[in-house]
Amino acid sequence: MDFERALAGVESTFEQRLGAATRDADVAEIQVAFLGRSGELTLMRRAIGKLPPEERPAAGQRINAVAERMELRLASALETLRARGLDAALKQHVDATFPAAARRRGSIHPIRRTLQDVCDFFERRGYAVVLGPEVETEYHAFDALNIPPDHPAREGFDTFYLPGGLLLRPHTSPMQVRTMLAHQPPLALVVPGRCYRRDALDARHSFAFHQVEGLVVAEGITMAHLKGTMEAMCRELFGPQQRVRFRPSYFPFTEPSAEVDTTCPGCNGIGCRTCSGSGWLEIGGSGMVHPNVFREVGYDPSRVTGWAFGIGPERIAMVRHGIDDIREFVDNEPAFLEQF
Ligand SMILES: [Zn+2]
Repeated sequence: MDFERALAGVESTFEQRLGAATRDADVAEIQVAFLGRSGELTLMRRAIGKLPPEERPAAGQRINAVAERMELRLASALETLRARGLDAALKQHVDATFPAAARRRGSIHPIRRTLQDVCDFFERRGYAVVLGPEVETEYHAFDALNIPPDHPAREGFDTFYLPGGLLLRPHTSPMQVRTMLAHQPPLALVVPGRCYRRDALDARHSFAFHQVEGLVVAEGITMAHLKGTMEAMCRELFGPQQRVRFRPSYFPFTEPSAEVDTTCPGCNGIGCRTCSGSGWLEIGGSGMVHPNVFREVGYDPSRVTGWAFGIGPERIAMVRHGIDDIREFVDNEPAFLEQF
């Protein structure tokens, strides 16, 4: 009987394919291939019409019985696959009592931390924190800051020059010019950033270093505000006992100009190796903004006054953490960095 043999063949093919199924998707595919709209069993059901009329009811019953068995086999195959998946997942279970690997924790670089502390101090007092380009023009780095091309101070900056009148900024002061050109007074800002000079590398000097620039411009600003601000900053960075002194100095962009010293936190002003016995440490330069700088950016020096300062975060971090070689900051020795 051809019909019976064909039906038995379909069922055994079904069993073979189901036995090889490894995923839920395989089972779904088999269901479509045999019981779907154009599946094997559906095609056989359609072929019943070709049988002699007296054989048709029995053939229909036989097909229904096979279809019912296939449905059951498909359902149990899915169940088996799922149980197998769960077993596999349980085999890779996590042992919660196993000691965990210690997590390696990073730390903030001492220079970054010092920059952050300085900026925090000024931000709390309403200063804007401004960032600027490290590649600058000669105009913004020198000319606009009252250092014309023939000025001897220009040599002292030991600048790295680039083609096309550009340079690697030797100080953060170009951002004073850029900010004043873009905004009218009053203004108060700090500029943290990296600077470059053709300095030979030794324990105290580096060709790449950081600076924090500060600038305040408004009516009635005096040097007393500058000194009070420097003192408050040093007390926050080094401790409440700090004192600050100004030593007369010269910078082309400020008049008068002063070096800023603070009492050595190592000896509290008595004198030690860190401060070479003087009791004082220099942290930067400062002064009242030169009228020529104001004229260059279109401010009226008879109406507004202002002061500026530039301090060295490397120097501050060395004093705060008792580091005696500036090269430690860039060597990236884990043993050094892990202390912070
Ligand atoms: Zn000292």
